Amino acid sequence: MSENTTAHTGMHRDITAKSGDVLVSCRGLQKSFGDREVMKSIDFDMLAGDITVIIGRSGSGKSTLLRAIAGLTDPDAGTMTFDGEVVFEDAKRTPAWKQVDSHVGMIFQSYTLWPHMDVLKNLTLAPRKRLGMSESAALERAEQALAEVGMSDHIHSRPSELSGGERQRVAIARALMMRPKLLLCDEITSALDPPVAAEVLDVLRRLKEEEGIAVALVTHDMAFASKAADRVVFFHQGEIAVNATPDDAFNKTEDPELKKFIDAVR
Ligand code: ADP
Ligand code: MG
Repeated sequence: MSENTTAHTGMHRDITAKSGDVLVSCRGLQKSFGDREVMKSIDFDMLAGDITVIIGRSGSGKSTLLRAIAGLTDPDAGTMTFDGEVVFEDAKRTPAWKQVDSHVGMIFQSYTLWPHMDVLKNLTLAPRKRLGMSESAALERAEQALAEVGMSDHIHSRPSELSGGERQRVAIARALMMRPKLLLCDEITSALDPPVAAEVLDVLRRLKEEEGIAVALVTHDMAFASKAADRVVFFHQGEIAVNATPDDAFNKTEDPELKKFIDAVR
């Protein structure tokens, strides 16, 4: 991310040199569990710095795609490139996969913070152990990350002392410790009240605008999708049925399943 600046110009399209480049490209991703095909030859691209909102019914394959991109599950077939390098092909990871480990962070619905450690320790543990980062460097980065999510005052709090929304902001800060190019967020606000959820999602929008971080998120929040998404991707039965701008997806789609889905969630 060295080419990124954090200038607050408000011209987020122009902030990162790499913004607009293809960051992730998936072709023909397939995944079955037993005889159930949960991803049927998925083609999916993400541009650097874009927010992609993924919607669709429960069981349609949304989490499986995010998990595949994060490396939590390996597809049975297909290829994936990340930042211009082939990271997955012939049903296995290539040596370039280390780019994904270094630059992709994932955040989940349920709180994944260590309950017995304070916020600072939650943030610094992995960078200290995995990257061998010095204590002072880790502290400095943690302070930055907490500032970015508006949680500076809670550096010594325990997770049990935080609200649900605060915990999710800390979870985002923890992902930021690795300086990600891509954040994958799987229903991270589903357990939160709408105003709190909106605050957490706003953090993601700021990270995109100020840091040029790409975000792929699964959410049922159509208001956020309408105003913040660059792309809306609709999953139906293991396939991407629609991949469009929010305006096209929500106001102009002819896809009968997407129409039904929108009516159901509105
Ligand atoms: P979504 O996130 O859209 O709700 P998922 O990607 O989680 O859908 O799941 C798609 C389908 O794959 C579901 O039918 C789910 O039960 C199945 N599935 C997901 N993970 C596993 C697994 N580890 N073992 C067996 N079936 C799975
Ligand atoms: Mg899911």
